[in-house]
Amino acid sequence: MTTAPPAGPSPGLQFDLLLDGATLITGDAQQPLLRGASLAVQDGRIAWIGTQLPPGARIGRRLALQGHVVTPGFVNPHQHAILSLVRGVAADLGFAPSYTPGIPQGTQVNPEQARALARLGACEALMFGSTVLGDHFVHADVSTEAMAETGLKLAPSWRIHDVDFARVAQGDWHFDAAIGERLLRRAADLHARWHGHPRVHPQLAAHAVDTCSEDLLRQVAALSASSGMHVNTHLSQSRVEVDRVQARCGRTATQVLADCGLLNHRLMGGHGIYLSDGDIALLAAARATVIHIPKCNATSGRLAPTPRLKAAGVNLALATDTQHADMVELPRWALMTARVQTGGVDADWQPQHVFAMATLGGARALGLDGETGSITVGKCADLVVFDARRPHWVPQADPLGTLVHCGQGRDVRHVLVDGELVVEDGRPTRVDLDTVCAEAEAAARQLWAAVGKPY
Ligand SMILES: [Zn+2]
Repeated sequence: MTTAPPAGPSPGLQFDLLLDGATLITGDAQQPLLRGASLAVQDGRIAWIGTQLPPGARIGRRLALQGHVVTPGFVNPHQHAILSLVRGVAADLGFAPSYTPGIPQGTQVNPEQARALARLGACEALMFGSTVLGDHFVHADVSTEAMAETGLKLAPSWRIHDVDFARVAQGDWHFDAAIGERLLRRAADLHARWHGHPRVHPQLAAHAVDTCSEDLLRQVAALSASSGMHVNTHLSQSRVEVDRVQARCGRTATQVLADCGLLNHRLMGGHGIYLSDGDIALLAAARATVIHIPKCNATSGRLAPTPRLKAAGVNLALATDTQHADMVELPRWALMTARVQTGGVDADWQPQHVFAMATLGGARALGLDGETGSITVGKCADLVVFDARRPHWVPQADPLGTLVHCGQGRDVRHVLVDGELVVEDGRPTRVDLDTVCAEAEAAARQLWAAVGKPY
């Protein structure tokens, strides 16, 4: 005897949106790959995943996605959107833009220019599949508002330091406590302004140990402890930083962070190139994150010791920093740069490892892994839909391997944040892309003209 299906819709099975008939690369260890699957969204969250829609379920909108691959949104925890200003130039000068003379500096950017450039950076990140962006630089008040307009989730921070950055590019590290006090106050204001917002989660960003005094680092640690905000920093990014910290403090930057109360699970150390085995052990024991920035570092001829970091159990995330914000290609860079160091292919460095760094690893770094970073029922519907009907996606014997080795940012067709289509058919839905690009170009022209290099 068979049971008749229910005559009418089951109560509660009302889905706002159905992504129908796709291949899901979930990032969830329970079921990492589902082919011909559907995913339902309700109230911004992933409500159901399966192949046979429950009887009686009602659907608000259905996207037919045969030939598409759906992944969790990428999490990029270390970026400075405004520095798109120096793209195509700074990467070939040998050092991070803030230390480089002859190019526009953050201290020269006015709020209107910051707004225009930040919106450009947010659109770029979103269109390449990032759903969470940790952005820290100058003018975080206006840039956060501008980036939030696009629908992107943000972990924004003021760049905190007490060195006078206007003089660093000339090789002069002059400290002024008043600068640090002003920036800390702004960081606290940013937290107060956005606290409780569903998509904006302010963090702290102590620029680096060479540009922050130990007194300021202790104040950042205290604010982090009292507010729960995570802390981004540049950690062992360059020889100049390493040598300056050693000369000033007599210790490594990691040891200074530990002594100042910052070495814990809330710390995100960006770059991590010149880390000793002792530093790595400290980072692992503290459950801190190292944000690996492979494209930026390799472009300047450097590599972070990721095989040693991973073997020690340090949480690794991936970020684009000042390079263009394409998170789709970043797992490939992480895989390549690790294998250059290990000298071959091994079981520790496979596509699933670098994909996890670009998704869950970043979410964990920001304290958001309970909400995002994998396709898991109950988590936010932060998703990327790839058009996998293009030749470089065929065949799909292993969709994750194909994504990591062949995927391109331009393959991103749709991006959803909390179930909202914020990129549809490759275009942002909330802002006019042509206007965003034109305003950013105008701002960049003003800033390059101001350093005597008009174009
Ligand atoms: Zn950076």
